[in-house]
Amino acid sequence: MSFLLKIFMVTLFFSSCGSDVKPSPRRDMEIKDRQSDMGEDVFVDLDDQKDLGVSADGRTQDMMDMGAQDETLLLEVNADLNNGVSKDIEFTVPEEAKAVFVQVIGRGAQAFTLSSWKNGDKSELVTENWVDTTTGSLCKECPNRVFVSEAVSISMAPNNDKVELKPGVHHIRVWGINAEENPLNTQVLIRVKMRNTTPPENASLLLNLHFSGAYNLTAQSAQSDRTFQSALNIMKDVYKQGKINVKVNYFDIDPSFQIIPDIGTPNSDLLKLFAINKPEADPNGINIFFVKELQSSTPVRGKSGGIPGPLFHGSLMSGVAIALKHKVTDGFVIAHELGHYLGLFHSSERPQTMIHDQLSDTLENDDTNLMFYEVAGSKLSSSQYKVIRLNPWVQ
Ligand SMILES: [Zn+2]
Repeated sequence: MSFLLKIFMVTLFFSSCGSDVKPSPRRDMEIKDRQSDMGEDVFVDLDDQKDLGVSADGRTQDMMDMGAQDETLLLEVNADLNNGVSKDIEFTVPEEAKAVFVQVIGRGAQAFTLSSWKNGDKSELVTENWVDTTTGSLCKECPNRVFVSEAVSISMAPNNDKVELKPGVHHIRVWGINAEENPLNTQVLIRVKMRNTTPPENASLLLNLHFSGAYNLTAQSAQSDRTFQSALNIMKDVYKQGKINVKVNYFDIDPSFQIIPDIGTPNSDLLKLFAINKPEADPNGINIFFVKELQSSTPVRGKSGGIPGPLFHGSLMSGVAIALKHKVTDGFVIAHELGHYLGLFHSSERPQTMIHDQLSDTLENDDTNLMFYEVAGSKLSSSQYKVIRLNPWVQ
């Protein structure tokens, strides 16, 4: 399996997010165009990494944890990948664990996933060596899905209502390749966290909103901009229906982040955007970055740093990016990307792929669901809210 294909597929999954392609007679042509782009991706030379100002280990200096009290660090260890795979890594999950998050932190232009995750009762959460036998970046057959992600890979279990997290000794293996499509020989940081409790019935979710100045939206002007506030209220309503009260803070970021070029290529400036870690931003809030444009071969309205995203700020995937260019008022795009960051896959990918999420109460190809690949809908199912509420960002 080549990096090119896997990274492309990741791009497909993410950039379908927020998406881009509206239903139109041209859709077939657009899909064809997209497929032909696959072979045209150009890799950034690895030497360019240093131009991004990213430290040698791919982490920014001030990467830190949120201060939530009901999450516990189960394991923090550097692991060596030899010929693309780590040794077996163990950690113990206590009885009270509600969810476990395996965070693999590497560099840009490298791609990672878990090639195995054994539950506390030895059953498989992630099917052993799936990555060697599956086409594409997503483990469709895994009881608990994972996928290949650039730089930072986060795997959450359970991420659907058909698997159960079992206490006991868990085993994982990390898999990785570089931009030259070769198995990695490198070191990654692994941080495993668990959530100990579920949030109260009336929960809260904090967001740090960051403004690049695109369309004159700044930390100050956004607070009174009627169009922006209306979009924000649409997003808040989606979460309010799941009894999650969204609160926001406002910050400015450098205007050089208004245009993010070539987000589909390895080590793009998108990673630099996600790594922004303003000391005044609340560590308990998810970072959302409002830019003018996320440039790609097809229009992209939003992108999440993972499914779910990292539980901390300052990594190359620590945030959600929203492109204001396509539709400034679309609060559903913000809600959708946030859904990814909290752990939701698309309820259905584009029909040709026949890929649907693993949740028992989401209908196939239901365009009223918020997580439909095109962001056509506004609703979340009760199991989708359940997954979201397992995430420590929801308190
Ligand atoms: Zn999406």
